[in-house]
Amino acid sequence: MSIKENLNSVLSQIDEYRQKYNVQQKVELLAVSKTKPYEDVLEAYQAGQRMFGESYAQEACEKIDRFKDSGIRDICWYFIGPLQSNKTRSVAERFDWVLSCDREKIAKRLNDQRPAGMRPLNICIQVNISDEEQKSGIEENEILSLASLISNLSNLKLRGLMGIALNTDNQDILKDEFMNLRRIFENMKKIYPCVDTLSMGMTADMEPAVECGSNLVRIGTRIFGARNYNKDN
Ligand SMILES: *Cc1c(COP(=O)(O)O)cnc(C)c1O
Repeated sequence: MSIKENLNSVLSQIDEYRQKYNVQQKVELLAVSKTKPYEDVLEAYQAGQRMFGESYAQEACEKIDRFKDSGIRDICWYFIGPLQSNKTRSVAERFDWVLSCDREKIAKRLNDQRPAGMRPLNICIQVNISDEEQKSGIEENEILSLASLISNLSNLKLRGLMGIALNTDNQDILKDEFMNLRRIFENMKKIYPCVDTLSMGMTADMEPAVECGSNLVRIGTRIFGARNYNKDN
């Protein structure tokens, strides 16, 4: 199957799930292209995809710069990986969104390093919904203070929440985790009217994520094939 065929099959699957679960809102597709070469991203772009997610700053910046150099400027780039302080500048200078903000220090740096003249960087707070020690994301009781900080930074725009569920086939566990994030999201919308993005769901758990109200699924493997982490990224 080509990247184009994979994209179309993911898009029709999203629609199928929306109908099956009677989901009213639009569910957008973020194509996760981390570790994949420029040529694969270009193929997806030529098939009509415009939103791409990347996790490794350096690799991502090379791809983004190549697109800009070739005159393609209508791609929306989402940073979705763990973000170290020494990488914030390159992200602030190139990306449109960061879905993985989970620390005040990172938010402040992104704000300070966002170039003048660029639109505010859209931010989602990454929440730890799976209680796994090593997973990124903040705990529920820390969300509001980080949200308040972000909403006061003029070069950032608070847009919502992102969560990664436990790596399991157990649909009950997945739905519990997703519904929990959904509940936090609904509460946050009451405080911050600009909050509109709830990003849940990857290749393996897209169905329960759509059922539970995700409006931005992040799909890599199913579009681009399995990732090879042996190369240095
Ligand atoms: C890699 C990644 C994805 C995509 O995962 P797939 O299982 O390949 O669809 C989604 N979200 C985040 C945060 C990721 O790091």
